[in-house]
Amino acid sequence: MSETKGTLSSHLWDSSDLYRNSIMQLQEAAETMQLDPNIAERLKVPKRALIVSVPIRLDDGSIKCFEGYRVQHNMTLGPGKGGIRFHPEVNLSEVAGLAMLMTFKCSLVGLPLGGAKGGIRVDPNKLSRQEAQALTRRYTSEINMIIGPDKDIPAPDVGTDSQHMAWMMDTYSQEKGFAIPGVVTGKPIEIGGSLGRAESTGRGVVYTIQHAAHHLQSVGKPYPKMDHSTTVSVHGFGKVGAVAALEIYQLGTKVVAISDVSGGIYNKNGLNIPEVNLYLSKHRTLIGFPEAESISNEELFGIPVDILIPAAIDGVITSQNVGHVQATIIAEGANGPITNEALKELEGRNIFIIPDVLCNAGGVIVSYFEWVQGIQNFFWSEKEVNSKLAEVMANAFQKVMHVQARYQCGMKTAAFISGVDRLNRAMLLRGLFP
Ligand code: NAD
Repeated sequence: MSETKGTLSSHLWDSSDLYRNSIMQLQEAAETMQLDPNIAERLKVPKRALIVSVPIRLDDGSIKCFEGYRVQHNMTLGPGKGGIRFHPEVNLSEVAGLAMLMTFKCSLVGLPLGGAKGGIRVDPNKLSRQEAQALTRRYTSEINMIIGPDKDIPAPDVGTDSQHMAWMMDTYSQEKGFAIPGVVTGKPIEIGGSLGRAESTGRGVVYTIQHAAHHLQSVGKPYPKMDHSTTVSVHGFGKVGAVAALEIYQLGTKVVAISDVSGGIYNKNGLNIPEVNLYLSKHRTLIGFPEAESISNEELFGIPVDILIPAAIDGVITSQNVGHVQATIIAEGANGPITNEALKELEGRNIFIIPDVLCNAGGVIVSYFEWVQGIQNFFWSEKEVNSKLAEVMANAFQKVMHVQARYQCGMKTAAFISGVDRLNRAMLLRGLFP
């Protein structure tokens, strides 16, 4: 009986590396903490998934159908929460894996939210603004029966931004007949967004790096001083990577290499990140930035640095290239950027990993603040948002270090245990329906 069940769930979910890696990490955490096997069984598969076909009229007059997904992994702690990804490689399994990571992330940082994720299999760079709007609106309409401010609240992810959230909010509101800003977070400020939300993920990444540096110093290990003697590489220069690069540059460190999907740039004396941003907004590519040499994304991983921030997509540090990686700290800005085999090797080499569910949690924390401010119709200053963000991130970091010391396990396992522990207690208290 259980074999049949196992086959069915593998067929449905297991096709992506991200999902398989997340399951393996969950299993390792479950064994280490001796998790109730009935809870582990329930956490291995998502609660609910919706696959939708999203037809839109392209600018040339033809109609094209895209495939869209929304997966709700676990909603024991509250409404689902998770971004919407527009990327050509998106599939049900990847979205399910990302939804699972959201469950553990929200639980780890103490939010009253569950884990969800959505996406459309599309290359957003090939869409005109009008096509992107039509796609976002029709997708919202197709998934509207499972989202809502009390049910499941989308946010931006790879390939989407605050404009997409504005279209989602408007579509949902038009269908209900009145404005419902709480259906999404990461909205523009004008329609109920939170100050500091756009910067929150990258900012949180840098907070965790500062905590990691203090921790390494406190246990007498080599640590980055976070001044001009510290070198940093950032893979992915989008909403997370560009902010993390700017924040860490502003601390006085040397950001020597950055990259995006078109390639990277390198300067051993450090890149001037505000000037890179100006160049990027003018030329829409990093390539050609003066006073830097061009490098490939693969070459970026081989540059010896104190801090490496993978902040693009999953599965980029693998058993193939892990041997080239030289860093004291790796901060997982992206979700799942390191495969399990590569992770084991890096841990074996005593590289300090800040796991995704901790490292990039700043985004969902400030999304939660945005949701709370919207419910209260009372909006906070950016200073207040940032100081609350810093407090939540500091507590979460300490929680993970405490678990790591207790179980003498890797940081990834410690972060998963920290997330699963609270959820486990909540699931046992609520029990199984019916
Ligand atoms: P984004 O679309 O704003 O930026 C992605 C960046 O990665 C871009 O610079 C893009 O050019 C680059 N990129 C894409 N494919 C690449 C490839 N194959 N090689 C090199 N670079 C590539 O997305 P984002 O919101 O910054 O998200 C980045 C990662 O952070 C994702 O894993 C996402 O799930 C995670 N994350 C985002 C948030 C958020 O608030 N946006 C929160 C938590 C986690």
